[in-house]
Amino acid sequence: MNAAIAPALSPAVAGTPDPDIATLLAVRPHLRMHAQDGLLLEGVPLAAIADALGTPTWVYGAGTLRARYRALAAALAGAKLPAHIHFAVKANDRLAVLRLLAGEGAGADVVSGGELRRALAAGIPPERIVFSGVGKTAAELRLALDHDIAQINLESAEELDMLAAIAAGMGRAARVALRVNPDVDAGTHAKISTGRAADKFGIPYADAAALYARAATLPGIEPVGLAVHIGSQIRALAPFRDAYRRIAGLVRDLRTAGQSVRVVDCGGGLGIPYRDEPGADPAGLAGVLRAELGALDVALVLEPGRWLVGPAGVLLASVVLVKRAGTGRFIVLDAAMNDLIRPAMYDAWHGIVPLDAVAALAPARPAEVVGPVCESSDIFARDRALPELAPGARVAILDAGAYGAVMSSTYNARPLAAEALVDGERWTTIRPRQEVAAMWRDETIPPWFATPRP
Ligand SMILES: *Cc1c(COP(=O)(O)O)cnc(C)c1O
Repeated sequence: MNAAIAPALSPAVAGTPDPDIATLLAVRPHLRMHAQDGLLLEGVPLAAIADALGTPTWVYGAGTLRARYRALAAALAGAKLPAHIHFAVKANDRLAVLRLLAGEGAGADVVSGGELRRALAAGIPPERIVFSGVGKTAAELRLALDHDIAQINLESAEELDMLAAIAAGMGRAARVALRVNPDVDAGTHAKISTGRAADKFGIPYADAAALYARAATLPGIEPVGLAVHIGSQIRALAPFRDAYRRIAGLVRDLRTAGQSVRVVDCGGGLGIPYRDEPGADPAGLAGVLRAELGALDVALVLEPGRWLVGPAGVLLASVVLVKRAGTGRFIVLDAAMNDLIRPAMYDAWHGIVPLDAVAALAPARPAEVVGPVCESSDIFARDRALPELAPGARVAILDAGAYGAVMSSTYNARPLAAEALVDGERWTTIRPRQEVAAMWRDETIPPWFATPRP
């Protein structure tokens, strides 16, 4: 490959060869290559969706989502844990996804007033909603109190005072958990680590007990427990174990001091395999929860995002052209970093699979897979073994269901992609492609500006 564009491989994967297409599909049972119909998500040929909606298009698998939710719920039940799953809405906030999970019994973890209203609009009951985040505004706290949601997770002494004043003014008592920073390194990408002392999240461990005691004296505040969330895409169990052990110690200290602690919110963060590496599985996490928190007689709240939705989504794209440069080639897609920003933002690796069965099995050689956006970071894959792909050929970018469409922008005046949902043999559009003119429909040109002369 071209040395000038050689990737800075992260140490975790340096030297690991990329899995080939057959290997990628073998560990993703919801995806299957059919000799005539090409790549299927559940029972639907993805080419049929690309034909109908064009590309780029996001597609989510409802059956896959249900199966993942049920596997996690079963692991928790199997460990006899009094745990409730609150889906982290920021991973994928589409109403269809939220409604499906609500139907399975999920609550929601929201991080903004907008997400709170989305969760309510999708039918998630307020008593199943918790509100996290480091900078909730007064208006957002009021909205949460208006709807009497289950719990507000506080991240600072300043936020406690702010909420106490608002709640007292409204004649309400806010149920709160203190989000504690356990000073644990999740060992994941720096941009998705949240539990080290230097991160902006949570109340310093050493301050938490005193703040809890003060919260209990404030009118308008009812402290119900503690919360912790150490980061995202965590595939080892040790960081979870360390964090939960620290929280368990704090629960015991608080109780010794006479405080009531009924809830431990364990956050999210469970990682998924983006290649074919072994992932942390729900049973492993359930075992850690049981060992560290099982004897405390507290209700557990789990806030998984990525683990539930990540593998259930793909981003379909078409090849615009293949640019030859020296000995290398650039496969230029019609999807870009404005659609899926994870490779540019987190150096993320995503599997890329041609929709056509013949193309998928053809001999592969290295290529750079890029988008058309005017940024050198607009790269989906470097040095990736792929077959020859002609203009118009279509591919699926795998594991794009979490932190995908929700992080899209219209940078380069590229409209937001269409979104579809497959459910077994059926599929439907859940959001049409944004119309080009809709991108500036709400803009105004100052009326005193002259109209340009033709
Ligand atoms: C982002 C976030 C989650 C979800 O994280 P995942 O890695 O997607 O599971 C859960 N809780 C909080 C507080 C978060 O900020």
